[in-house]
Amino acid sequence: MLSQSNNFRKENVFSIASEKELIGAFRPKDQKKLILPEKLRFPLNVQSYFTWKEPSGVYTYLVFKVPGWDLPRGVVFKRTPPGREPTGGLCSWCHAYGTSEEIGLLSVMMSSQVSYSYMICQDLRCIEKIEEACMLSGKDPEKYIADLYYRMEKLFENISNYRPE
Ligand SMILES: [Zn+2]
Repeated sequence: MLSQSNNFRKENVFSIASEKELIGAFRPKDQKKLILPEKLRFPLNVQSYFTWKEPSGVYTYLVFKVPGWDLPRGVVFKRTPPGREPTGGLCSWCHAYGTSEEIGLLSVMMSSQVSYSYMICQDLRCIEKIEEACMLSGKDPEKYIADLYYRMEKLFENISNYRPE
C-alpha cells in the first residue's frame, strides 16, 4: 500500500531549493521552452505537485516528485492547437468531465519526431478536481489521489525509458 496515513497529501510534500534546481528538473530540450512564473520564492515548498502555464497558454509545466526520487522532475506539455482537438471529454488522470477548454490533448515531446499525447485537464488541476468530486460524493479521495500520482510517475517513467527506434 502506498499510504496508511489519513492525510495522503502529506506523503507528497517536497521542496525545490533554487531556481537552478527547478530548471534542472527539466530535460535540456524542455528547458528551452521554459518560461518561469514570476515572483517565485525559494525554497519552493510543494504539496502534491507544482504546475503552471505560460501566458500564451501553449505550454503547461508539471514538476513532480515521488518519495523514491532524489530530485523533482519536470515536464513540458504542449497544447494541441484548437480545431485539432476533440471537443471535450474525460480526463484520463482524474476522470473529470469537461469541455475542450478544460480537457484536451497535451503532448510531451519524446524525440524530435515522436510525441506522446495525454487526454487530461488542460490546467492540470486534477488533484483539486478529485478532492472536489470526493467531497461532493462523500468518498475518500486517497485512492484517487494515489492513482493520479501513479499516472504521473508513469509519465516520467515513459520519458526516461523512451528509446528512439
Ligand atoms: Zn484531470
